[in-house]
Amino acid sequence: MPTSRNTESAHVFAVRLMQHLVVPTFVLNAERRVIIWNKACERLTGVPAHEVIGTTNHWRAFYDQERHCLADLVVLGCPDTMDQLYVTHTEPSDCAHGLRAENWCVMPQVKKRLYLAVDAGPIYDEEGNLLAVVETLRDQTEQKLAQMALQSLAVKDGLTGLANRRSFDEKLEAEWLHNQREGTSMAILLVDVDHFKLYNDTYGHQKGDTCLKAVAAALDQQVFRPADLAARYGGEEFAVIMPNTDLDGALHVADRIQEAVQAMNLPHGASLTAECVTLSIGAAALLPSDDHAAADLVAAADAALYRAKRQGRNRVVCTDRVEELAEA
Ligand code: GH3
Ligand code: MG
Ligand code: MG
Repeated sequence: MPTSRNTESAHVFAVRLMQHLVVPTFVLNAERRVIIWNKACERLTGVPAHEVIGTTNHWRAFYDQERHCLADLVVLGCPDTMDQLYVTHTEPSDCAHGLRAENWCVMPQVKKRLYLAVDAGPIYDEEGNLLAVVETLRDQTEQKLAQMALQSLAVKDGLTGLANRRSFDEKLEAEWLHNQREGTSMAILLVDVDHFKLYNDTYGHQKGDTCLKAVAAALDQQVFRPADLAARYGGEEFAVIMPNTDLDGALHVADRIQEAVQAMNLPHGASLTAECVTLSIGAAALLPSDDHAAADLVAAADAALYRAKRQGRNRVVCTDRVEELAEA
């Protein structure tokens, strides 16, 4: 039989162990009050233990607005709020074994956003009553940022920062199906810089890159509806996908893009069209149906772009008839 002194010293030892654990850890009791806030947790959050012990204010160490932490959810018996509170989490089917989640925290005290991986595990007495919940935290910010950078590389064009061709292709197919289901028209623009080979020949490839970046930024600024996508289609050619848009809507955006690039007045002394950099734009809109594929919409815009070039460049030409393809 352990004596009460033995039990007491075992308790002191356990608490000290937890205090000096290198893993940031805090413990809530069954009333969701903080009973342990270890040194590593102080270092991570910048919040000293004496400010939170005995309170339910632990959320303040992580967020600037009141919300539950993972340990709270375990105490509360795993409500269905996991989806709203955490982007990444394990299925809250078996709360008895605790929860695991990851998310961005604003960390008001240390004033830096951290991506934390969090585990919260319950401790029960012999009768199965909840005694406490232990929450451990791992700072995964560096790994998360590296992962985000890799993901960004996969979907973005390195030179301009616009969506890359792969993202364009994926979005095009997805929106085609979506607009077909909704019975709404969708539109695309193909945007090509006029006489860009002559630009490179005159000013050099590096200046050419700078010019493409400027054109991309101007274009991107005019594509501000969240559902739309501006992409680098390839070389000196850009594309815009506009779901739920008819030809009028598409022409509106095309005109704005042309005006924005004209307004920059980028000198192009060698251009055979104007004294500054100009664009030719092909616009097409279609009601997606089984008779056509998304590629037909691109082909129609390409045909319109080709006509814009033939008609003298620096203009927008449109089509909402796929049959025009044959005439191009
Ligand atoms: P058009 O008015 O008919 O479109 O003539 P263009 O000279 O613009 O078209 P062409 O297809 O003959 O030439 C496109 C040029 O774009 C050639 C290529 O070197 C240049 N280009 C493509 N990608 C890049 C890039 O990333 N950077 C630079 N600087 N130039 C590029
Ligand atoms: Mg060109
Ligand atoms: Mg081209």
